[in-house]
Amino acid sequence: MDVRGSGIEQELDWQVPLYEQIHRNPELGLAEHATSAAAADLLARWGFDVRHFGRTGVVGVLANGAGSCVLARADMDALPVAEATGATYASANPGVVHACAHDMHVVALLGAAKYLADHRDTWQGTYIALFQPAEETAAGSQAMLDDGLAAGIPRPDIALAQHVMPTEAGTIGTTPGPVLSAGDSIRITVHGRGAHGSMPHKAVDPVVLAAAIVLRLQTVVSRETTPGEFAVLTVGSVNAGATANIIPDRAELLLNLRTYSMAVRSGMIAAIERIVRGECAAAGSPQEPEFEYYDQYPLTSNDPEANARVTAAFTNTFGADAVYRTAPQTASEDFSRIPDAFGTPYVYWIVGSVPRDVYRLAVEAGTVDTDIPANHSPFFLPAVDPTLRMATQAQAAAALAYLGTGAG
Ligand code: ZN
Ligand code: ZN
Repeated sequence: MDVRGSGIEQELDWQVPLYEQIHRNPELGLAEHATSAAAADLLARWGFDVRHFGRTGVVGVLANGAGSCVLARADMDALPVAEATGATYASANPGVVHACAHDMHVVALLGAAKYLADHRDTWQGTYIALFQPAEETAAGSQAMLDDGLAAGIPRPDIALAQHVMPTEAGTIGTTPGPVLSAGDSIRITVHGRGAHGSMPHKAVDPVVLAAAIVLRLQTVVSRETTPGEFAVLTVGSVNAGATANIIPDRAELLLNLRTYSMAVRSGMIAAIERIVRGECAAAGSPQEPEFEYYDQYPLTSNDPEANARVTAAFTNTFGADAVYRTAPQTASEDFSRIPDAFGTPYVYWIVGSVPRDVYRLAVEAGTVDTDIPANHSPFFLPAVDPTLRMATQAQAAAALAYLGTGAG
């Protein structure tokens, strides 16, 4: 089956207005009421059996005879950022914007779902289109699973997901193995003893303690992690005290970790806890430190065999020049919890969204990292053409690599 044909091109007639409508009306995680209602409505109209999981999650199941079962997922939530793109279809919801292209993921998956519904005679099996809430808070896939997703839909043989990124539009990046990092945030509270700012001898100063911890934590990656292994440890926030002449009694540090390996991750966590406890002991801290783990994202690691099959479908659809092997991204995702709950292999790929001339000029000038707005920037805005069409075709082509009956 050739998804380059007129079928998908025609989809854009309704896809662009729907994309602009969702972009104009962004909704935060677990509050994607209008977005999920729009998806549910269209899926039902196209003959999907529609089910709801996890507050705003929507799943459409299209059973079309014996064959493989494919699950394709889009995330739906926007971000608490004020849009600065100046787009004619800019957010009408102040302080909220689709700055991570989840609006495009939704409309692309709907396009693929309609294409498959319209061309039922050309494939067989079961197609599941899943619209997930709250990716940005790492809560959405778990919310759907907690609400009975695994028992409530057919078990997929393969799961598919994609992300629009600020790479060259008209390209698609795949890779076997790790494609997105595992992510962990840690809130660390260390305790001192408060005192007047003029009497440090009566205090255990948590500001000095926190400063020592921040510096020592820099050795976790540089001195303890095997060279060549990927690991990021960022101290994103340090908070202690409020005024110049009072030594506070505690400090709070917020850490963010990114890893491509669960072994590296647990090694880092052990090192962080050891360093924090050690510095607290060295400072004479009167109370054990506290560690709270939150916003935890699983590793996203593509099944090599499935990735090869989907990559071949992309090469066939878009041409070899459009498909490249992406380096793993340091961003994180909660998608893999869904296939992991079924023990199903998955493929996650990257769709470029920056107009080719703009991107190539930036590459030449060495300004990609500074001049091209990345996801979550108030200026992030994918080029609708060709990004939406490519993302739609990609979802359809990847599904048909498993559902197709061999016609091309
Ligand atoms: Zn995001
Ligand atoms: Zn995203």
